[in-house]
Amino acid sequence: MTDAIARLKEVVGTKGFSEDPVEIAPYLEEWRSKYKGNSPLLLKPATTSEVSAILAICNETRMPIVTQGGNTGLVGGQIPLHGEVLLSTKRLNRIRALDESGMTLTAEAGVTLAVVQRAAEDKRLMFPLSLASEGSCTIGGNIATNAGGTHVLRYGMTRALVLGIEAVLADGRVLNLLRVLHKDNSGYDLKQMFIGSEGTPGILTAATLRLFAKPDLAVTAFAAVPSPAAAISLLGAMQSRTGGMLSAFELMPRIALEFVSRHIPGVRDPLAAPSPWYVLMEATGGKDSRLAETFEAGLAEAFGKGLATDATIAANAAQAAHLWKLRESISEAQKHEGASIKHDISVPVAAIPQFLAEAVPAVQAIVPGARAVSFGHLGDGNLHFNFNSPRPGDDPAFLAQWDTVQQTVYDMVNRYHGSISAEHGVGAMKVGLLPRYKTTEELDAMRALKAAFDPLGILNPGKLVPKVLKL
Ligand code: FAD
Ligand code: ZN
Repeated sequence: MTDAIARLKEVVGTKGFSEDPVEIAPYLEEWRSKYKGNSPLLLKPATTSEVSAILAICNETRMPIVTQGGNTGLVGGQIPLHGEVLLSTKRLNRIRALDESGMTLTAEAGVTLAVVQRAAEDKRLMFPLSLASEGSCTIGGNIATNAGGTHVLRYGMTRALVLGIEAVLADGRVLNLLRVLHKDNSGYDLKQMFIGSEGTPGILTAATLRLFAKPDLAVTAFAAVPSPAAAISLLGAMQSRTGGMLSAFELMPRIALEFVSRHIPGVRDPLAAPSPWYVLMEATGGKDSRLAETFEAGLAEAFGKGLATDATIAANAAQAAHLWKLRESISEAQKHEGASIKHDISVPVAAIPQFLAEAVPAVQAIVPGARAVSFGHLGDGNLHFNFNSPRPGDDPAFLAQWDTVQQTVYDMVNRYHGSISAEHGVGAMKVGLLPRYKTTEELDAMRALKAAFDPLGILNPGKLVPKVLKL
């Protein structure tokens, strides 16, 4: 062990490692403080060949290693929970190429999402991935978690935005798949193995990303809707009216609006009368696209059909930002209301109303008075199906029901053929749950792939791939 550590330090040089507990401490805890780890050594390689040399040593000496990007992951995947060596990608921070006419950008894994977005914008292009953590999260982390966000409806998850990757395999060999091809049917699409794989088959060192034309015009509206079913009909109607130009369609209940109005400075209810549900919609297009007229006509039709009861359309960028703040502050506002039990689930879009009608009372039967705060990406069938304690003072009793509530919700999601992790991944948090919800065939295939890529099990051990057999 001491010998291996000495070799690792030599590979990266003095700037490339730390054994100082004070410097390492922030890497050992994630922002929700759910997971705390420990590590004897923090490695900060600056090149792919350094990552390659690191993994060759780790594989030879069977030394487990955990990769960390921006440390914004929500399922503990980036934390060394069993004393592993920790590899931070923060010094892999170069944009290697930007091809304006081919609309591609090649960035190293440690470049933050915000830096990629700005580099695209400087060329009047757009990288559409958008997350509240974009100032800190990295392209490597986004790919390793197949991140979602608010623009999935139009542009897909990260998986749809990646053309090529460069990854270092467990034994140190470099798999160079940095292609800029939109079409390539020459065999297994190996990059897919790394997208959403949470650092378990290899370490991503760079990626080639798709850029898009930047829309000049955005129409943003906040609409009161009578029910989730009406919201789904409104989504279909507005997509049809705008010719598929919607870029976001987010659902939120009245209680979420009350939480943000109460706790977030500068946020107020934009509509005159209360409504049980709301949607935040955004459509984008070219400046001559008459999108605003089409959008308004679509909303007027929706009022006629009872799909929406009131709405406000942002008159300028500041008003649009206020409407987005309403939506993006929900998680923060929830914290001010006491403990919460959260689920990041998806079910088929059309099943959402029935799921809500069944799942909310099922949780409230376990915790009478639990406050349902179900919001999120309606167009993707992905809800942040959250509950706050009945009153802030009830926290311990409420949290004592955590396991019962989660199992009830996940069993129901499973009956709807949904996913128990639609957006944030598996990491350490949900790895123990997969055997209950995945088939033996799925679990066997996952284990076989893991063993093929990382036969000695040194990469992010205990995350994503369950060790136990089907329950
Ligand atoms: P980390 O947290 O450092 O790592 C996450 C996982 O990826 C770990 O398993 C790690 O081992 C692995 N990993 C990281 N880099 C590499 C690499 N180079 N090679 C191999 N494996 C690697 N997520 C969403 O999907 N949608 C959202 O809307 C969203 N909103 C968020 C809002 C906030 C305020 C916060 C804090 C988080 C949010 N997240 C969201 C979760 C998180 O930001 C994403 O999962 C993000 O993609 C993680 O990137 P990261 O660089 O921080 O990765
Ligand atoms: Zn989300």
